[in-house]
Amino acid sequence: MKNEKLQQILKSALEDIAASQTSEDIANCRNKYLAKKSELSGMSSLIGTLPPEERKDFGAEVFQTKSEITRLIEEKSKELQNKELEAKLAKETIDISLPGRELNPGSRNPFYIVKDEMIDIFLGMGFEVADGPEVETDKFNFELLNIPQDHPARDMQDTFYINDTELLRTHTSPVQAHTMEKAAGKPIRIICPGKTYRRDDDDATHSHQFAQIEGLVVDKDINIGHLKATLELFAKRMFGEKREIRLRSSYFPFTEPSVEVDITCANCGGKGCNMCKGTGYIEILGGGMVHPNVLKMNGYDPEQYSGFAFGIGIERVAILRYGIDDIRKFYQNDVRFLHQFKKKA
Ligand SMILES: [Zn+2]
Repeated sequence: MKNEKLQQILKSALEDIAASQTSEDIANCRNKYLAKKSELSGMSSLIGTLPPEERKDFGAEVFQTKSEITRLIEEKSKELQNKELEAKLAKETIDISLPGRELNPGSRNPFYIVKDEMIDIFLGMGFEVADGPEVETDKFNFELLNIPQDHPARDMQDTFYINDTELLRTHTSPVQAHTMEKAAGKPIRIICPGKTYRRDDDDATHSHQFAQIEGLVVDKDINIGHLKATLELFAKRMFGEKREIRLRSSYFPFTEPSVEVDITCANCGGKGCNMCKGTGYIEILGGGMVHPNVLKMNGYDPEQYSGFAFGIGIERVAILRYGIDDIRKFYQNDVRFLHQFKKKA
C-alpha cells in the first residue's frame, strides 16, 4: 500500500480494534472508521477528483483498507458478543436442584370427607339417597313421627321457628314421612344426609346446626336383625373390621323398640379406657324398628309391613374417626385445622 494516509488509518484502526473490550467499544470503532463522516469515507470521495491514471490504484487501496477494517470489526464484534453472552449465562445460572415453589391447594373439610364415605357405604348396600326440605312443617317434623303437640320429646328438640307451623327441622327423620308419602305403599330403602337444627348453646360438643344421615327401610318381614346387620357392616366399613357393635335399649317416639348403638372403643379395643369412660364402648347412633303408628300415619299397614330406621350424626362420626375435640372446628374455617386433612400426593 502506497498511500500513507490510508496506512495510518489502518494502523490506528488495528490498534483501536485490538483494544476494544466491550460491544460498545467495537461499536465506537465501527462509527469512527466506517461511518459516512469517517476519514476513510472522506478518502473514498477523493477518488473522483484524481486524474484517471491514479484513480484505479488509489480506489483499490481505499477499497482494500475498508474491507480489511470491516472484516476485523465483524470478527471482534462476534468475539465480544460471545464473551458477553457467556458471562451473562454464568451470572444467571439456574440451580435446577432447588425445590419448586409449592402450590398450596385447599383441602376438603373432614365433614364432607366423612359424609361422602358414609353415603358410599350405604349406596353399596343398595340404599338410595333421598332429600327433603330444611324448613319443615310441624306436621312432618313432629306429628307424623308420633310426636304430637305437648309430647315431652319436643322439649329435647327445641328449634328455630319460622312461624306457628314452620320450623327448621330438628332431625332428618321428616324425610321418612315424605318418602313414605311418595312411595305410597311400596317398599323403601333410603338414606337422607342433611342439615338439622336445634336451639342449643354452642360448645365443644353442641352446635345449633349439625348433620345427620337418616336411614329408612320399609318392607315385608323386616326385623331387628336386619337393622343390626346393616349397622354392623356400616361400623366395620367406617371404623375398621375389628369393630363390634352393641345395641342398648332406648326410647324414641317414632321407633319401637328403640336402640342406642355403640361401637367398641378404638383406643382400648373394648377393654375400657379414659376415652370410653371405662365401658369399652362409644355411642355412635340411634335407631329402631319403625313405630306402627308411624307406618299407619304414613299409609302402610303395620300388620303387613315393618321397617327399621336410624339416624347417625355426621360430625359425631368424623369426630370419632379423626379424634377431633371440638364440633365447632367443622365450621370455623381455620386453615390450620383443615390442612390436616389434605390428601397426600
Ligand atoms: Zn376405650
